[in-house]
Amino acid sequence: MTKVAVVTGSNKGIGLAIVRALCKQFEGDVYVTARDKGRGEDAVKALTSEGLKPKFHQLDINDLSSITTAAAFFKDTYGGVDVLVNNAGIAFKMADPAPFPVQAEVTLQTNFFATRDMLTHFVPLMKPGGRVVNVSSFVGSRTLNQCSKELQARFRSEDITEDELVELMKRFVEKTKSDQHKEDGWPQTAYGVSKTGLTVLSMILARRLSKERPQDNILLNACCPGWVRTDMAGDKAPKSPDEGAITPVYLALLPPGATEPHGRFVSDKEVQSW
Ligand code: NDP
Repeated sequence: MTKVAVVTGSNKGIGLAIVRALCKQFEGDVYVTARDKGRGEDAVKALTSEGLKPKFHQLDINDLSSITTAAAFFKDTYGGVDVLVNNAGIAFKMADPAPFPVQAEVTLQTNFFATRDMLTHFVPLMKPGGRVVNVSSFVGSRTLNQCSKELQARFRSEDITEDELVELMKRFVEKTKSDQHKEDGWPQTAYGVSKTGLTVLSMILARRLSKERPQDNILLNACCPGWVRTDMAGDKAPKSPDEGAITPVYLALLPPGATEPHGRFVSDKEVQSW
């Protein structure tokens, strides 16, 4: 059966560059996915004009029915998924006047909870030899180091469960509402906490795959693309989107038979300490 790669939030920025690279290097169908059909189709047109042949499927990770519709499509059409890159993410601009509790709720919703929904529905579809890449950030590592000793210990522990992590992420959002997050051990960064959570979730799910599907050789990792010139990061960042795609694509295309990295946080193609 034809292989398939799916990249979330790939109508622009790093996601679009990941699709471009996969179109050149992955032997199978590659899907641009976007929450907005028009923006997604424009991206497909742009890549088509470069001589590439991506396909498109609508996918809004904040909409559970969009996730389940897409999951059913890939299961029916391809028998599952070979490569999944969870790239979709948001960040409030520094100057955004939205109150911190709003920023916390909205940022955690997309970057952590919605990405988790994607993983809940797509990891079971991953075919043997599949690769899952979660685009996290070095900001999540920096944020880890700014958390209380107690939180750091939980985020680094091998026995933290998905339920415990979800409760901790909810607790952060709740504590911001009464401005008690700092005394509860959290730093003042919603984006950072969302990416700390995504990296820890990646480690939890990788351990679960090793335990429950050891024969399937699925590798699941979190990564940082580097600081990349996009609408999110602005035009002063040093890397182009194509350069930002290098590490996510490296993880998406880890060769058959590879056993590592798995459950790691990877930057510049190197496993980073956590
Ligand atoms: P952009 O803002 O350029 O692109 C973000 C993409 O995510 C867009 O396609 C956007 O779609 C999409 N998206 C947002 N919300 C949803 C949703 N609910 N469902 C589906 N798609 C959604 O950002 P970047 O390319 O810079 O960022 C890509 C990833 O890389 C993010 O996860 C980011 O946190 C991470 N990252 C980026 C860094 C950088 O320096 N740029 C550094 C470290 C990590 P739409 O166009 O519809 O808004």
